[in-house]
Amino acid sequence: IYSYTIHAVKQETFLDDFEEPAKITKLKAIKQLSQNFLMDERITDKIVRAAGNIANHHVCEVGPGPGSITRSIIKMQPHKLIVVEKDPRFLPSLELLQEACKSYTNLHIEIGDILTYNMEKGFEGAQKFDWTYTPPPIHLIGNLPFSVSTHLIIKWLEFISQRASAWSYGRTPMTLTFQKEVGERMVAQINSKQRCRLSVICQLWCNVQYKFTIPGSAFVPKPDVDVAVVTLVPLKTPLIDAPFAMVEKVIRTIFNTRQKYCQRGVEKLFPEPVREELTQKLLILSEINPTTRPFQLSNEDFVRIIYSYKLLCDDYPKIIDYNYRMPKVDRDEYFRQFEDSLGTC
Ligand code: SAM
Repeated sequence: IYSYTIHAVKQETFLDDFEEPAKITKLKAIKQLSQNFLMDERITDKIVRAAGNIANHHVCEVGPGPGSITRSIIKMQPHKLIVVEKDPRFLPSLELLQEACKSYTNLHIEIGDILTYNMEKGFEGAQKFDWTYTPPPIHLIGNLPFSVSTHLIIKWLEFISQRASAWSYGRTPMTLTFQKEVGERMVAQINSKQRCRLSVICQLWCNVQYKFTIPGSAFVPKPDVDVAVVTLVPLKTPLIDAPFAMVEKVIRTIFNTRQKYCQRGVEKLFPEPVREELTQKLLILSEINPTTRPFQLSNEDFVRIIYSYKLLCDDYPKIIDYNYRMPKVDRDEYFRQFEDSLGTC
């Protein structure tokens, strides 16, 4: 059982006056929902400061819990704040904040799952900015639940590639937390030990910055890991212009054999009958040395690899459906269809 003191927020005096505890709730943290709470206001303020100026902005906070980051956000007086929380037990404390800030911030509480929440609808009324212009006055903030953080950022990167959801308003920036190791991977550059699929996918579409580390000891209950605060701002000109699923597949397949020569990963993109031939073609087209290891490939190298793969898919359309890990029954059917398609290439 963990105790939380939710302080009263006085409208007239803004949020500096935290003297009177308005409510004390005793709630058990739910492990499945990755509930690790930040109780130190200096840290929650620091996270919000990392987001830059959010006054009068539309903000969406993921997983507010009892509302400690929410309170730091409200102090910046955004125009609208949407909080999306899966655990309904936090509704009373969030409603308290809603009441306290109502004269300057419209706090909308959504009890639900961020993975299915419609942000485009949530931000309705916000000004849409051209993609090549400065980011719109919208921001996504969250001390993300570890259980969904990687899944969520991949999903959001796909939206960014499609300029959909929160990114139908322009290059909406994000200030988010991840496990420290995940944050390090997101910013990892060529030749780095942490360089992986996530590094390349994030960097093809976003400017990613590792802002600071929060020690695990700052959370209640304390997680086994430290936490990274990372900002992502979508690039004016993404490094790649190709369907997200194709980009993700090529990068994932190549990084599957992280310590081996990249040729080994490239081979796995192609079915056996054309494997050798197309691997050679791809490496020549993209000007990649076959003995380079995946973590030694730059973002630009991956861009050339993906464009070359796309060209080969134009010549052999069935290749796009090939998955070297498909079960045997699907493989047999795939190869039958692939042989048929060769006749039409
Ligand atoms: N923001 C609070 C803080 O920093 O103290 C809580 C952070 S805690 C790491 C993650 C929060 O996300 C929890 O309140 C949890 O209930 C919520 N959560 C977990 N999965 C979620 C989901 N899929 N959608 C929305 N909220 C979720």
